[in-house]
Amino acid sequence: MKPAPFAYHAPDQLDEVLALLGDQDHEVRLLAGGQSLVPMMNFRLAAPEVLVDLRRVESLRQLRHSGDGTLAIGAGVRQSALLREPVVTDGWPLLSEGARHIGHPQVRSRGTVCGSLAHHDPTAELPALAVALDARMVLASASGTRERSADEFFVSYYTVALEPGEMLLEVRFPRCPAAAGWSFKEVARRRGDFALVGVAALVEAGDDGTVSRARLVFCGVAERPFRALDAEQAVVSGASFEEAGRLVSEAVRPMGSIHASAEYRRECAGELAARALSEAWERATGG
Ligand SMILES: Cc1cc2nc3c(=O)[nH]c(=O)nc-3n(C[C@H](O)[C@H](O)[C@H](O)COP(=O)(O)OP(=O)(O)OC[C@H]3O[C@@H](n4cnc5c(N)ncnc54)[C@H](O)[C@@H]3O)c2cc1C
Repeated sequence: MKPAPFAYHAPDQLDEVLALLGDQDHEVRLLAGGQSLVPMMNFRLAAPEVLVDLRRVESLRQLRHSGDGTLAIGAGVRQSALLREPVVTDGWPLLSEGARHIGHPQVRSRGTVCGSLAHHDPTAELPALAVALDARMVLASASGTRERSADEFFVSYYTVALEPGEMLLEVRFPRCPAAAGWSFKEVARRRGDFALVGVAALVEAGDDGTVSRARLVFCGVAERPFRALDAEQAVVSGASFEEAGRLVSEAVRPMGSIHASAEYRRECAGELAARALSEAWERATGG
């Protein structure tokens, strides 16, 4: 199918993007990588009157590593940069590993990091990774910028805390604790498909050789990234990774679909949690 008619702008300055986005008389959408929006327009699931292409705004294509160790990823940075840039592969290996599960190379070379976060498909990897890594979201409109934590940003299916006229300008990842072990595990029907269930895990070892901190965040099991707080706490209190997995299976309430029942997803979530914790622990302890 063909999309409904729309006006197209490709400004090269951020000010112009924000001015166009602030037009309250028309439905305006940003076009980033187009990997979700263009199919939606072709199927007429979306029919924006105005498209504002971010491609020509050079300032948005920056991936900056600041002095305090923060990694800032602008709205024009492609997902493929997460697998390619040494600053990411060395400093945020969990982010690289998770991004490897996004679609195929063709999708990642067009799709943007911020586009995936703003689109917020609940099975997408990047929103779960953003919550796991305590990312900060920088939101911009013609009247200024504000920041939200990743946890506040993701509201529900395809809904984020952006106000009309606002865009996700960049996402900032704080320095990843050097001693943290990490793992990303996912079940999908075929390689490159959206996840049925995925999990990002981070584990730190204390001086006494026990788990001092654990983080488990899932995609595909809820309307937004799901943090398994009970399982995290249990692991810190000495529970086995298998026990933590059982707690996860009890806690999650995924929806079923033609591809996988809710029960199957619950089972997967528990099993992936145990495996991810185990791998992260090995990396944390060099075991
Ligand atoms: C075959 C295929 C397989 C895929 N598999 C996966 C997968 O396994 N996992 C996965 O996570 N994704 C997958 N995707 C989706 C892909 O990751 C998209 O790139 C992503 O969802 C959207 O990013 P984009 O840059 O293409 O955004 P676009 O498609 O351009 O935009 C998506 C939406 O976000 C809005 N938007 C974009 N950027 C911003 C911004 N900076 N601020 C505010 N709003 C913004 C747009 O207006 C639009 O509403 C797949 C896509 C395809 C085509």
